[in-house]
Amino acid sequence: MRLRLVTSNAHKLQEYGRILGGLGCMLPLDQVDADSVVECGATYYQNAYRKAFLGMLSVPAALADNSIILADDSGLELSLFDNMPGVQSARFRHAHLLERAALSAFLSEHRVSTTPARFICWIVAFLPGSRRCVACSGSVSGIVTPESRGSHGFGYDPLFTPDGYSLTFSEMDSRLKDLISHRARAAQALWCALQGALPLRP
Ligand code: IMP
Repeated sequence: MRLRLVTSNAHKLQEYGRILGGLGCMLPLDQVDADSVVECGATYYQNAYRKAFLGMLSVPAALADNSIILADDSGLELSLFDNMPGVQSARFRHAHLLERAALSAFLSEHRVSTTPARFICWIVAFLPGSRRCVACSGSVSGIVTPESRGSHGFGYDPLFTPDGYSLTFSEMDSRLKDLISHRARAAQALWCALQGALPLRP
């Protein structure tokens, strides 16, 4: 049995490899390309379901029969700003800028030096050779600042400091992010659910 992650984000593939390995998951992890999947859902769950479902359809039946096909959708929410950018995190634009640069510019423009935030992740996994799926979520709370700090990770990592830490996700060792992140928490829940649902062997 294998895990196939539907994504076009190489960082996510690396993170899931480390997170699942740390949970004791010995199943090989492969990538299914998600370039053609449009994220048009109103929720993280809808986008994750759509990615996983379309990924499953793109995998030949014989491979799908031996694979757990999973996808996630994630984002950053600022509670004092109506939870934006939220499900639009990958597409957030401001002042002709995109994503992290756009959020930095937005916060600076509003003279915000720090604001509460949380990362959310939803994972949907289709079980081998079936239309049954499992869905799990995870979140991590912290603060966001307009200044970038650190060089690891991706996306909004340099702006986000999790509660209880003084380092941003980009400044900390990736092994620490992979213990406390929204993705790690969703993956832990998924791994528990899969162990209940399947006889898991590499
Ligand atoms: P998606 O889940 O591929 O749709 O991406 C959502 C967007 O949320 C990414 O492009 C990032 O901007 C942001 N994001 C999600 N998870 C993380 C993370 O762990 N670190 C930094 N940014 C993230």
